[in-house]
Amino acid sequence: MPARGHDTASPAAPDRPSKAAGARHLASGAAREALAALRGALQRCRECPLGYFATQGVAGEGTLRPALMLVGEVPGDQEDLQGHPFVGPAGQLLFRAIDSLGWPREALYVTNAVKHFKFELRGKRRIHKTPSQREAAACLHWLEDEIGLVEPRAAIALGATAARSLLHRNVAVTRERGRWLQRDDGLRVLVVLHPSALLRIRGEEREPAYRQWLGDLRHAEEIVDEWLRRSRSAAGGGESHS
Ligand code: SF4
Repeated sequence: MPARGHDTASPAAPDRPSKAAGARHLASGAAREALAALRGALQRCRECPLGYFATQGVAGEGTLRPALMLVGEVPGDQEDLQGHPFVGPAGQLLFRAIDSLGWPREALYVTNAVKHFKFELRGKRRIHKTPSQREAAACLHWLEDEIGLVEPRAAIALGATAARSLLHRNVAVTRERGRWLQRDDGLRVLVVLHPSALLRIRGEEREPAYRQWLGDLRHAEEIVDEWLRRSRSAAGGGESHS
């Protein structure tokens, strides 16, 4: 049974003192422009072999200064074709969970640790493959740039690749899931299973696993609630998250 305690301060702790602190007051428009430039630049990236075979690089999408940045592993087949993150089956399961938790989409930014689809061909089918550590390491600077520009209050690592990229160490997801961990820059990271792991569970075991996963995600509820409170009070004062 994995530990459920928080390894860090309360999730409602003050904003992280991140390396992005210097960009904290970057105007939203400038941050959006920088993200658009990042999106364009990663189309040209060939720092690992994946860029040569995928249809396109897939950057993250969502709100600036969100409650949560959700980080997955790598774009899947549909994400690669459509150019948007989390539009395939795993993304549908993730957003089903988010909706059932009552988290508004505008409180989130979703992205992947690796930006180009990795696959092997079986006949005409493109079968997802897990990126290697070397590929994830090559792609890490794109994720760090996104974090610096998006400035999430906290992050959720969906699976081992995301957890390793965010925390810069190997993470045993089944042992460390449902726990708050903290990066050197202060960003808090909640580790949970990737939704594709749930999709691989067949039969009657899937529903309890799904409920357990929801329970892990619920550890971030306080952050979303606090973000919503601030958002509503900022709306009265003219401040905006995005
Ligand atoms: S996966 Fe990442 S490092 Fe590799 S080519 Fe694409 S953007 Fe560059």
